[in-house]
Amino acid sequence: MTEIIDGKIISATVKERVKDGVKKLKDNGITVGLAVIIVGSDPASQVYVANKKKACQSLGIISEEYALPENTSQQELLDLINELNNKKSINGILCQLPLPAHLDEKLIINSISPEKDVDAFHPANVGKIMIGDYDFVPCTPAGVMEMLTYHNIDISGKNCVVIGRSNIVGKPMGMLLLHKNGTVTICHSRTKNLKEVCKEADILVASVGKAGFVTADMVKEGAVVIDVGINRVDGKLYGDVDFDNVKEKASAITPVPGGVGPMTIAMLMQNTLTAAKKQNGII
Ligand code: NAP
Repeated sequence: MTEIIDGKIISATVKERVKDGVKKLKDNGITVGLAVIIVGSDPASQVYVANKKKACQSLGIISEEYALPENTSQQELLDLINELNNKKSINGILCQLPLPAHLDEKLIINSISPEKDVDAFHPANVGKIMIGDYDFVPCTPAGVMEMLTYHNIDISGKNCVVIGRSNIVGKPMGMLLLHKNGTVTICHSRTKNLKEVCKEADILVASVGKAGFVTADMVKEGAVVIDVGINRVDGKLYGDVDFDNVKEKASAITPVPGGVGPMTIAMLMQNTLTAAKKQNGII
């Protein structure tokens, strides 16, 4: 019987944990604050930002939203980040990506104080993940790890295959699995014999960005399949995995929607709480 790894249930347990932590800080006179910056009017980004705000509100985290016009200059954005870096009531800063083309994404990410970088995109935090000594983990891979832990899925010694090598999903995902003693292969568009490589996976993570990319013939009987993909086709959401057919072979699988997606916001909330604790010398 295939286990469905339910991101709604698992994210709710993470959020409960965070809510509890936020309350404990509040009882000691410490507030937790997240600033979310959005530049321009990308509809998907607006939905993500609204969801983050809603999550903050439900957990007692103060959220400040900075909605800037499309034509915001680099200096204006840097000035705002600098102000937030120095604002005591703000523990976490998130700049919603993608940014309009005239803004230098790398420069903007690098200008966020690493202590407040709750997305864990700053090179200092990326380096910490590499050496296995980290406070913040990028929210999506962190969410996947939380799901595996929740389902008592042992990673040690397992063949873990990640499809995708982006800085926000694939690479950190591979590192986290490696830190848990998985034998990790990271695949990408130049990987040869992808099907054969995937078929070796005990744990297969798909972060490709192509609807239904992972088909049943790429999956080993009994594998754990994690679908990170979010693909909108004719207004409907699809993952990177051909769920209906792959679920017949997998021992456990995440659906889309309702899988990794809800975990990402929950882990952002957790990172914000961690930031507040660190900044107040609690951990
Ligand atoms: P990305 O930056 O576009 O990376 C996609 C990766 O897939 C690249 O490394 C690319 O290889 C690889 N790839 C593309 N075609 C391939 C092929 N035919 N065979 C093997 N590899 C191939 O995307 P991303 O930001 O990592 O996101 C991946 C997916 O996850 C998207 O659907 C995104 O919407 C979703 N996502 C979901 C969440 C969530 O909360 N659930 C969060 C973030 C992202 P190359 O490097 O060689 O080009």
